[in-house]
Amino acid sequence: MSDPSLWQEQHPGRSFPALDSDRRADVCVVGAGVTGASCAWRLLEHGVGVTIVDGRRAAAAASGRNGGFAVTGTGLDHDELEGRLGEAGARDLRAATERSLDAMIALAAELGVPQAVRRTGALWVAQDEHERAEIERVLSAAAAAGIPCRPAADLIPEPMRDRCHTAAFFPQDAELLPATWVRTLAAAAADRGATLFEGSPVGGLEREGDGWIVHAGGGRVHAQAVVVACDGLIPRLLPQLDGVVYPVRGQVLATEPLQQLPLAHPTHSQSGFMYYRPTDDGRVVVGGGRLEQLEHEYTDAETVTAGVQARLDAFLAEWLGLGGARVTHRWAGIMGFSADLLPVVGPLPDSAGLYVAGGYSGVGNVLGHLCGGIAADLIVTGTHPQAAALDAGRFDLTSPVEQLEKRRSRDQAARLSRSQR
Ligand SMILES: Cc1cc2nc3c(=O)[nH]c(=O)nc-3n(C[C@H](O)[C@H](O)[C@H](O)COP(=O)(O)OP(=O)(O)OC[C@H]3O[C@@H](n4cnc5c(N)ncnc54)[C@H](O)[C@@H]3O)c2cc1C
Repeated sequence: MSDPSLWQEQHPGRSFPALDSDRRADVCVVGAGVTGASCAWRLLEHGVGVTIVDGRRAAAAASGRNGGFAVTGTGLDHDELEGRLGEAGARDLRAATERSLDAMIALAAELGVPQAVRRTGALWVAQDEHERAEIERVLSAAAAAGIPCRPAADLIPEPMRDRCHTAAFFPQDAELLPATWVRTLAAAAADRGATLFEGSPVGGLEREGDGWIVHAGGGRVHAQAVVVACDGLIPRLLPQLDGVVYPVRGQVLATEPLQQLPLAHPTHSQSGFMYYRPTDDGRVVVGGGRLEQLEHEYTDAETVTAGVQARLDAFLAEWLGLGGARVTHRWAGIMGFSADLLPVVGPLPDSAGLYVAGGYSGVGNVLGHLCGGIAADLIVTGTHPQAAALDAGRFDLTSPVEQLEKRRSRDQAARLSRSQR
């Protein structure tokens, strides 16, 4: 496992005991990341009893190790989402993510950590001609759909200005202190009546009458419903989803606090394969860099590698002019991608009472909050307006599925390698 992230070090949070006996719960949520904590929070709002079990700690995995971009929308560009769900379906799903982010901002303030979810806007900078055309296409589709955005060459970070001339700004988006946000939410859920066990890895799920037994650590949870909220590790517990959701490793670094920050906004380029942001204490955090090492990063091993970290160092030096900056933190995390780049949420076919929420395809900070809530609503009321679009039943689980991201990423990697020759 890799070292703690900057965010985890800055917010160790409260610890919770391990499960060492048998207990009963209405619902057992496996995983205390943003999905599990948000699901538990929503279940409590419904007045339903919930036990959360995590093999490590709250926000130990991706939810405490990510870049901290809180973007509205999904892993698909809006025009692609329209192609998939139709105009109304795409508009509704996007609006649901916007409401989720608004709710996160309000909830963080209510829980006393307003700095943990802040609306800053987000910037996308084109590093080459191909990406320039991509930004122009996305800007015009977004404008047609009424999504707030604008061309923003004026916001391009100063060290990139001689080589980059096109950018887009999305004012609705936000930035997180990921571990502060999720650990505060998980602890608040515990204060409101959820029971949280840490250090309690789930080894298996067993049918028991109408419900389930969750074998976790040194005990068992008997529950009417179970939500598997493990994102990149979902296939380990639900092998029937292997390939529908699959793990991808992401890597990040953070510099020491700097005298002068070259960045004002959370920013990305290389179509999201490189992302970089400032922190309040004057650091730059850079993540991504996996394009040149693509095949090695289809793994659930949470370790940093020299190859990807060297790409991040090179970006810091060559594009942000920070070659001399000392790097104080390097970490890795595992994210769950879905085969069609949309989350997979809801009951599993032929397994009454067993639910999944994950596969956010690299953009789970807002989708995780939304989808944890969708799973909770489905358990309690049986419905949610976005459930049909995200249901696991859209995949044929009996035959291998095409993984859209892998095809696209390989094309992108090939283009990059041609341009570097
Ligand atoms: C490096 C990196 C950068 C990213 N950057 C961004 C970003 O900037 N913006 C964005 O929106 N998204 C980003 N993401 C994606 C985002 O972090 C995830 O999609 C999101 O955090 C998933 O949340 P989750 O709660 O579903 O899963 P996780 O945060 O992975 O939590 C799952 C939990 O389940 C537990 N668990 C797993 N298996 C078991 C088991 N068998 N028994 C018990 N517990 C188990 C784990 O310990 C963990 O705590 C990034 C991800 C990574 C790795």
